[in-house]
Amino acid sequence: MIVTIGEALVDVVGGSPRAGGAPANVAAALAKLGSPAAFVGALGCDERGDFVVAALAAAGVELRGIVRLPDVPTRAVFVAVDGSGDRVFTGFEPPAATFADTQLSPNDLDATLIGAAAALVCGSLSLAASPSREANGRATSLAHAAGVRIVLDVNRRDVFWSDPAQQLAFIRGGPLPVAAIVKASVEEADWLFGSTDPATIRAAQPQLEAVLITDGVRGCRYAVGGSSSTQPAFAVSARETTGAGDAFLAGFLHSWLGGATPRDAVRFASAAGALATLGPGAIEPQPSAEDVRAFLASESASTA
Ligand code: ADP
Repeated sequence: MIVTIGEALVDVVGGSPRAGGAPANVAAALAKLGSPAAFVGALGCDERGDFVVAALAAAGVELRGIVRLPDVPTRAVFVAVDGSGDRVFTGFEPPAATFADTQLSPNDLDATLIGAAAALVCGSLSLAASPSREANGRATSLAHAAGVRIVLDVNRRDVFWSDPAQQLAFIRGGPLPVAAIVKASVEEADWLFGSTDPATIRAAQPQLEAVLITDGVRGCRYAVGGSSSTQPAFAVSARETTGAGDAFLAGFLHSWLGGATPRDAVRFASAAGALATLGPGAIEPQPSAEDVRAFLASESASTA
């Protein structure tokens, strides 16, 4: 079982509500690929919470690590899509509330679930507030002590922080030193490591077995195991790129932890990311492993 921890929320994109939150999306993508996955996080006892839990259940995610809190709302993030197709944050609803995702407490964690995991995937949004920061810290400590691979999906989001300048310190003092796998965008890599070259980053952070730097339609660069290379994005008619990175990360973990070579794991991840752009929202278009295999077979046939 791969465990993801952090925020699950409602993404309202162009007026349509969708279940979202990167760790929740990664859990859903893993489950749809056939890798058992559990999401750990807090949601309100409200309609939004029911909506998100139903979406995760439909994807096949293990739900026993979810806590529902009666007095705090599930977060909704309002996003508009601008003329060039980019997502633009337009606000939280209700504004300035304390949202359920920040209220996961260290005592809420199921130590057995985390200690027995194949990997623990965390982001950085839960570091922005207490007690979710302490819950994140306890989860990574439990995982590290049990020899569970820790996966850091950097996912910089300044709007979640009252003081965005604190982000770097909390990432560097928290999950990064114990992480085995890091996924970042080009901008995030430059911000966190001062480099966009995966091999240089790995040389500076020798605890990392894999560094994945994604760049949307420009593909990705990676240093995985003994290999450093690039993987172009597959040419698809993308409809909405929300959650491409989450499907990419899930695809990588599914394939790499399943024993694939670095190159094959990154190809599988890139195909999963590309396929996740073909439909609306993050979770709905996430592919099955069979979808990814069929897509890769058709790509090989067309380039043979
Ligand atoms: P994030 O959503 O975390 O910002 P990216 O947008 O970089 O992540 O996307 C992750 C991966 O998904 C890319 O490296 C690429 O393989 C694939 N991908 C993303 N957007 C597209 C696209 N428009 N067409 C094809 N593949 C894409």
